Amino acid sequence: MTEQNISNLSQENRTFEPPAELAASANVTADVYDTAAADRPAFWGEQAKRLDWGTPFTEVLDWSNPPFAKWFVGGKLNAAYNCVDRHVEAGHGDRVALHFVGEPADDTRDITYAQLKDEVSRAANAIEELGVEAGDRVAIYLPMIPEAVITMLACARIGAVHTVVFGGFSSDALASRIVDCGAKLIVTADGGYRRGAASALKPAVDEALVKIDNESTAIVENVLVVRRTGQDVDFDNDIDSWWHEVVDEASEIHEPQMFDSEHPLYVMYTSGTTGSPKGILHTTAGYLVQSAWTFWAVFDHKPDDVYWCTADVGWVTGHSYIVYGPLANGATQVLYEGTPDTPHKGRWWEIIEKYQVSLFYTAPTAIRTCMKWGEEIPATFDLSSLRILGSVGESINPEAYVWYRDNIGGGRTPIVDTWWQTETGAHMISPLPGVTSGKPGSAMTAIPGIAAEVVDDAGNPVDNGEGGYLVITEPWPSMLRTIWGDDDRYQDTYWSRWPNVYFAGDGARKDEDGAIWLLGRVDDVMNVSGHRLSTTEIESALVSHPKVAEAAVVGAADETTGQAVVAFVILRESAGDGGTEVIQELRAHVGKEIGPIAKPRTIMVVPELPKTRSGKIMRRLLRDVAENREVGNTTTLADSGVMDLITSGMKTAKDDD
Ligand code: ATP
Ligand code: MG
Repeated sequence: MTEQNISNLSQENRTFEPPAELAASANVTADVYDTAAADRPAFWGEQAKRLDWGTPFTEVLDWSNPPFAKWFVGGKLNAAYNCVDRHVEAGHGDRVALHFVGEPADDTRDITYAQLKDEVSRAANAIEELGVEAGDRVAIYLPMIPEAVITMLACARIGAVHTVVFGGFSSDALASRIVDCGAKLIVTADGGYRRGAASALKPAVDEALVKIDNESTAIVENVLVVRRTGQDVDFDNDIDSWWHEVVDEASEIHEPQMFDSEHPLYVMYTSGTTGSPKGILHTTAGYLVQSAWTFWAVFDHKPDDVYWCTADVGWVTGHSYIVYGPLANGATQVLYEGTPDTPHKGRWWEIIEKYQVSLFYTAPTAIRTCMKWGEEIPATFDLSSLRILGSVGESINPEAYVWYRDNIGGGRTPIVDTWWQTETGAHMISPLPGVTSGKPGSAMTAIPGIAAEVVDDAGNPVDNGEGGYLVITEPWPSMLRTIWGDDDRYQDTYWSRWPNVYFAGDGARKDEDGAIWLLGRVDDVMNVSGHRLSTTEIESALVSHPKVAEAAVVGAADETTGQAVVAFVILRESAGDGGTEVIQELRAHVGKEIGPIAKPRTIMVVPELPKTRSGKIMRRLLRDVAENREVGNTTTLADSGVMDLITSGMKTAKDDD
């Protein structure tokens, strides 16, 4: 291992073979890796046949002007037609597209593909009536209700570019996104249900319009409001209209127009875990091809599966694996509005039992929370319908992986740990459930058609057993096309480190078999006495201790070692309050698991960790705390009160010292 490479500390020897029955009928078999690697464009050209085209493409990939790719050149298609109409035309109009489950008990609604087609067509007509044309931007600020999916598809149908803003965000975040992409229309709701109560949304839109001085800038021309909770709203007749008046009365006949393969589909802002959010632009055909194919391949989707992804539509996972990927495949899925613990901590498992969910996709943070609550909660539900479990958003700690497999998957289900980013648009590195023997904590290998590598500073591949930077060495269909309105920033951020190689900031290592283990952000790497330590391995070591529920580590300036490891841990309910004894025990545990160099200098027991809306830990804020700085930008935190809790908790911890 060279000095500048990232250290490889942990050892994990467990593997889980694919179940024989699943392997025997899997959508994708092992030979596909080689076929795809032999000619990647040909492979993706083949997968593009899964879609219906108005005009066929003449060239799969134009990479003559890197890093600006054009995929499926000359083709024309309509994304909404591919996600909805064609299934109805193929005779599946009665198939349920969405089992909507509202947070209030018994608030459910099944929507078939035929109904979805009518709803999307009505919304498309209504949005056109409001003056929106192809290429215009539409901001969507809605709870997890069917109208969110319908609006996204209605935009795609008319060629308008949607930008979905998470419903939990403040008016500031909404305002900055409206201005950045110049949204002409906002689609929102009076409110949504969250933790057992109606929570207002419309007031944040009103505030955002004041903040952007819409009276004089006139960026936003209309606000379309869904009535969800029935709570009071301020209504300005000049700009506001009700969904139930405008959309419900529109015609359900709408002829979808065909758009160029490279027509913009949406702008999605990144989580902002490492910096300020970037407006990532995705275009139509390449994005749809890869999200559709990966959904089919990675979840081994079959027509009678019931799929459920717990992400919010305000996150890229909601775009690719609630809307475009599943619907392009004609899947039946659950769409759930609320939180996992309302009205009780078994709500998710109750939903799985009721709808016989077979494919389930969630984030490690949620799994760790369920671990904290205890396995007796899922144990009271019948989860035998599940056949594949997915994970996304962060590395899944081996401890959480095994818990998930045993307690949710009944010890039978493969786990697909999917590595990808807002920028990549779709899965890039993941096991295939019928092919790969999974190792807990590893995303394994690049999926067929994707070229991933781990390189050193000079851009040379590292040997097996070593750590470095994760890069993508060949263009892929669902790659971002640019940062909205800023081609220079696009080039600088992702393509400037090594020529024509994509780098978006993650560290990784290859194990002895060449499997890839994600190590966390390169920005978060700690330099302790000349050793470059990543966050993931130390956090996983902490989480593997029976008293720890969650952990985050950061590097803080240290006079003797350059940087020192500082850990923030949430203890399990059974662990007591975390006196000095527990802290010594945890330090020793890390030393034993992965080596003395990784032992945290300081361990702070905290009640919560700062997380983004998609459940990622925001280590940059913890670094501010560890180095006694004022805490930085918190606008994308899921819960902005958390930092106060942590800093005040720290004061008490210090007082106790
Ligand atoms: P920003 O780029 O603004 O800092 P972000 O990177 O958190 O935000 P996303 O695009 O939502 O925004 O997250 C992508 C990142 O999530 C990846 O770069 C990686 O660090 C992490 N990630 C996603 N899936 C996995 C996974 N399966 N294993 C490890 N890390 C993952
Ligand atoms: Mg990122």
